[in-house]
Amino acid sequence: MTQPCEEIASPLLPIWDMSIPDIPQRSRLYSLAPLGPDSCLVESLTSYLCRLAYEHHVEVGTLIQHSIAPILGKQYIAGDKSRSISSFVRFANPINGNGTMASDWVDALRSLTLRTDLTLLTLLVSADALSQRDLLQPLRQWCPLCYDSWRRQGAIIYEPLLWSINGVAVCTAHWQLLERHCPYCSSSLPWLTWRSRPGYCSSCGRWLGSAHRHGQAGEKEMYIAETIGDFLARRTQLTPAIPREGVIQTLRNLIASTTAGNTAAFARCFGLPKTTLWELVQGYFPPSLPFLLRLCYQLRLSFLQFLTGVEHSALGESPVSQGQTLKRDVRRPFDREKVQQALEGILADRQTAPPSMREVAQRLGYPARTIKGHFPVHCQEISYRYAEYRKQRGQLRKAHLRQRIYEAARAAHGQRLTPTYRRVGALLNAPGTFRERDARRALLDIRSQLDRETGGEYVAEMSQPEMEKRPGNFEAREGTNTICY
Ligand SMILES: [Zn+2]
Ligand SMILES: [Zn+2]
Repeated sequence: MTQPCEEIASPLLPIWDMSIPDIPQRSRLYSLAPLGPDSCLVESLTSYLCRLAYEHHVEVGTLIQHSIAPILGKQYIAGDKSRSISSFVRFANPINGNGTMASDWVDALRSLTLRTDLTLLTLLVSADALSQRDLLQPLRQWCPLCYDSWRRQGAIIYEPLLWSINGVAVCTAHWQLLERHCPYCSSSLPWLTWRSRPGYCSSCGRWLGSAHRHGQAGEKEMYIAETIGDFLARRTQLTPAIPREGVIQTLRNLIASTTAGNTAAFARCFGLPKTTLWELVQGYFPPSLPFLLRLCYQLRLSFLQFLTGVEHSALGESPVSQGQTLKRDVRRPFDREKVQQALEGILADRQTAPPSMREVAQRLGYPARTIKGHFPVHCQEISYRYAEYRKQRGQLRKAHLRQRIYEAARAAHGQRLTPTYRRVGALLNAPGTFRERDARRALLDIRSQLDRETGGEYVAEMSQPEMEKRPGNFEAREGTNTICY
């Protein structure tokens, strides 16, 4: 008769523990820790997704296709077709926000990684308190200096959630404007693509870090980035969902203290639509981020205080330098002489492209309205030159576009093909070209010209009203005399 192993082992080996150890639940994907969860540079969910794919040695699209889409089971990413996922990822930035898409993705990634701290990589804490409208920056922006310094230090390259928030235009670590175009291919980039990788251009694949400073930030941009960074850093101390009532109450208190409860006067004072403000105060809908930031900046209130009604001191020391906040709270005296010199320098410079008044204000660090009040003539001249410059640039662009359409239409015609919107758009590698009225007119002219040359082979049937319609509304019927869009 055989004896159980425990019975044999216990007298011989008393230290042999035969009980089964407590093995934690296994996660399907690597349980990657998010970066900076309690700092102002906390990682975004899109960045986390890229790093997770990188850790598994697969592309982001492949990870979504095989692991996330099947458990999400949502209409917007239905099926596992790579084409549908490719087009979805380009508009995936709402997963960093505060809507259903963000909560769906957090739940899906939580079930795959078993991490419970992924909500911090989104703005879900403000789901009830902030409108989803205008909450996020639609296209990617980044700080080349941050990328460069992280690479030098051998740190992990990622994208902070702060960079994806609408209204944030400045890096809080380097106080310079964030980049929005790749310096090599000039592309503006989506937050996610099939092959996204933090720190690299998703269009040309080149490294986006750089040690060169450029684009000095203005006071308003600095204030906004700092106050939102402060809010992100303190979210771990807040309730899981900020109630809308707190924001509405702060707004009511402000109206009571500044205009003695007169909503219309408050709206006039801050240049807000009266009806919208009244509806906001009634709590009919949550306020938008740009609206809150405008009030925060004008009243020098912290964003967190506005959202929660909680005083700063009640939440302890801010991770953002108190010295910096205090410095910005103090009104800077207007340096008339320095500003005059700068304005005269700008007007004397005929070599570089004329700047807008907004850009001048950012460079000098004073509100445009203040500068205009002191130097109305200089400012008028700067605005005039900028408007002229924009007009010329627009005309040049249109002439260039017209030339390209002409060449593409000729090329199609040379191959005995009808130069349709779709075909010429494809040849230009820009299918949306003919949404522009001037582009449609240009093709109409070229086709009329070709019509004259060929004796009305295919253009006669194209009527003016049809040309004015948006492209894409007509079915392409190639090889016939029907107009194809
Ligand atoms: Zn930076
Ligand atoms: Zn590029």
